[in-house]
Amino acid sequence: MTKHVVKVLEAQYITHDVKQFRIEKPAGYNFVPGQATDVALNKKDWDGNFHPFTFTCLTKQDYLEFMIRIYNSRHGLTEQLGRTNAGAELIIQEPFGAIQYKGPGVFIAGGSGVTPFISIFRDLHHKKLLRGCRLIYSNYTAQDVICGQELSDMLKEDFVAHYTREGVIGFLERRLNHDLLVQYIADFSQRFYICGSDSFVKDISQVLLELGAASDALVIDK
Ligand SMILES: Cc1cc2nc3c(=O)[nH]c(=O)nc-3n(C[C@H](O)[C@H](O)[C@H](O)COP(=O)(O)OP(=O)(O)OC[C@H]3O[C@@H](n4cnc5c(N)ncnc54)[C@H](O)[C@@H]3O)c2cc1C
Repeated sequence: MTKHVVKVLEAQYITHDVKQFRIEKPAGYNFVPGQATDVALNKKDWDGNFHPFTFTCLTKQDYLEFMIRIYNSRHGLTEQLGRTNAGAELIIQEPFGAIQYKGPGVFIAGGSGVTPFISIFRDLHHKKLLRGCRLIYSNYTAQDVICGQELSDMLKEDFVAHYTREGVIGFLERRLNHDLLVQYIADFSQRFYICGSDSFVKDISQVLLELGAASDALVIDK
């Protein structure tokens, strides 16, 4: 597996716990929107600890970009990335699979699961091919939304922000369930892209199948 040592060019928080990293792009490095790569810190004791993150920049940009949710309580790689700034070095591997665009449809994301969709939407928007795509983006609260303004500007009325813990006394969960998906989606004969935690993908896929979606119309990272 080829490894590339790259410098961090810019690092800044774009929400209270999501940090955007722009890093050097190795010569000849290419990816398809929606793809991810394994990332480690080029630092003693951390250079073998690779975790997957998704590219969010346009393929033609001369840097690579990630948007990474920082989990300080886990004392893992992302806590270290929270302390990593311009000038530091990362190690990246080759791009791999994850979710790729197969045509218009409904995109359903939970939390940082939106990152492959940001990459796909930026690419389609750039090519003026975004028509027919709708995003249902679930988060705990509005504070947790990544790139909300940009997604809203690109998708207009096809951007649906759903909050599971917003404005609900006692933090009652308002998870994306059967009734809410019926409310948000009129036509279940479409293609569906789903990305989020394993349980999010499993739960949403199951409800979509119950509502009549075809199993081969579900695009998920397996
Ligand atoms: C293909 C792919 C693409 C991805 N792209 C992105 C992306 O673009 N942006 C992004 O933000 N994330 C992305 N992720 C998720 C990201 O890889 C993880 O969030 C990251 O690896 C977490 O690393 P960590 O070392 O901080 O924590 P972990 O390795 O998850 O945790 C460190 C330790 O904390 C403990 N722990 C783990 N989970 C929990 C928990 N829920 N509660 C309490 N303790 C826990 C465990 O003891 C664990 O050993 C992607 C994942 C995949 C599979």
